[in-house]
Amino acid sequence: MSTPTDTAPLLLAGATLVTMDAEARVLRHDLLVAGGRIAAFDPPAPPAGTRRLDLAGCLVLPGWIQGHLHLGQTLFRGLAEERRLLRWLTERIWPLEAAHDDASAYWSGLLGAAECLLGGTTTIQDIGIGPGAPGLLRAIEDAGLRGFAGPCLMDEGDGLPRGLAATTGEALRAAEELGAGLERSASRLRPALNPRFLLSCSLELWRGTAELASRRGWPVHTHALEQLDEGALVRERFGRDEIGVFEQLGLLDADLRIAHGVHLDATHRATVAGRRFSVCHCPGSNLKLGSGIADVVAMRAAGIPVSIGADGAPCNNDLDAFEEIRLAALLQKLEHGPAAFTGLDALRLATSEGARALRLEHAVGSIEIGKEADLLVLSTDRPELFVLSEDGGPDGPPPSPTAPRADLHDLIAFGASRASVRHVLIGGELMVENGRLVHLDLDEIRREARRALADLLRRARV
Ligand SMILES: [Zn+2]
Repeated sequence: MSTPTDTAPLLLAGATLVTMDAEARVLRHDLLVAGGRIAAFDPPAPPAGTRRLDLAGCLVLPGWIQGHLHLGQTLFRGLAEERRLLRWLTERIWPLEAAHDDASAYWSGLLGAAECLLGGTTTIQDIGIGPGAPGLLRAIEDAGLRGFAGPCLMDEGDGLPRGLAATTGEALRAAEELGAGLERSASRLRPALNPRFLLSCSLELWRGTAELASRRGWPVHTHALEQLDEGALVRERFGRDEIGVFEQLGLLDADLRIAHGVHLDATHRATVAGRRFSVCHCPGSNLKLGSGIADVVAMRAAGIPVSIGADGAPCNNDLDAFEEIRLAALLQKLEHGPAAFTGLDALRLATSEGARALRLEHAVGSIEIGKEADLLVLSTDRPELFVLSEDGGPDGPPPSPTAPRADLHDLIAFGASRASVRHVLIGGELMVENGRLVHLDLDEIRREARRALADLLRRARV
């Protein structure tokens, strides 16, 4: 399970490129991938040794970006059903997380990473776990995913098991040490500081996080404004709401990335607009835990970058970016009307805008020369993807200039699924080829994950 960095040049030939660049151009070019990057369109003479992939009839997109995941919870799928957030955490998720060790965290991470890769996700932001954090980080690195991760920081809170409540100093030391390790590593993973949420962290831990973020230049990733009863407890304990506390801590200018933001209201939006602040929208999780519908249209109108994320296996229950894209669009249409949020808008959250939310727009999120070759190839031969496309694209020209035309972005946002994923590349390296993992052995992962979960359940007090 290695991630080789030397990869031969690849020519992706004959596909339609859904670039997700600023103009959302759809292009018909052969695409040369070399040195891990998008090197050229229609190269006159590809370098010697270039491998050609014939992709006639396929669509190529930037790989999906998921801005909020808990790969350390992948083993807990189905183990915390029918609960609202605070009971979901205290009765099941925290006791299970407290029982993690490096081995269970590793196989949980690899199982989740395999699902991400098979579903076209190439960049993630993982909020981590407490015990077992080094195992989880190693799994994400071994899987070859790009993104941000770090241990999840917790030091106090109602219902927090002893195994999860590190001392403040220990939590900060572990975060700095593991983050420094990621900075030194040759993997695609970079550090983030992940205080879990206001109710599981002391003010001292938050202040330490802000200091570390400023000293190291690392982003801060947390949960906020997810459910109303959580917000009420925050106001009771801190005398102000989440955004007020973050403002007081100086975190609104510290590259703060919050997951959920379901209850981010107009006053909050005015406060955070233009700051170093983004939201990861988690529609599947928000629906399943009964949290509410985040106003993504209003956030974007305020200029707040929004990414998308499946959250974790016990609150979703899968890690499917296609599903989150579709849910995001459907929910905004329900709230604001069918024209308020298009298929293209939804795809932006998982590509170019997701990249902005994670401050990776220089590297990923669109198909442009010089960017990392993080790419998703979709087959369009499935019945649900039949269409006479706008550019005359895989299925030929429209019959007349006035005939209604389907839009490829809508086609993908509302009709494509993991079943249409053919290839996935990260940094020019094929991670999924013809729908199968190239570097990971799914049978081994399932076998080891089963064993690790059985051991964990024996240790856990649930
Ligand atoms: Zn979460």
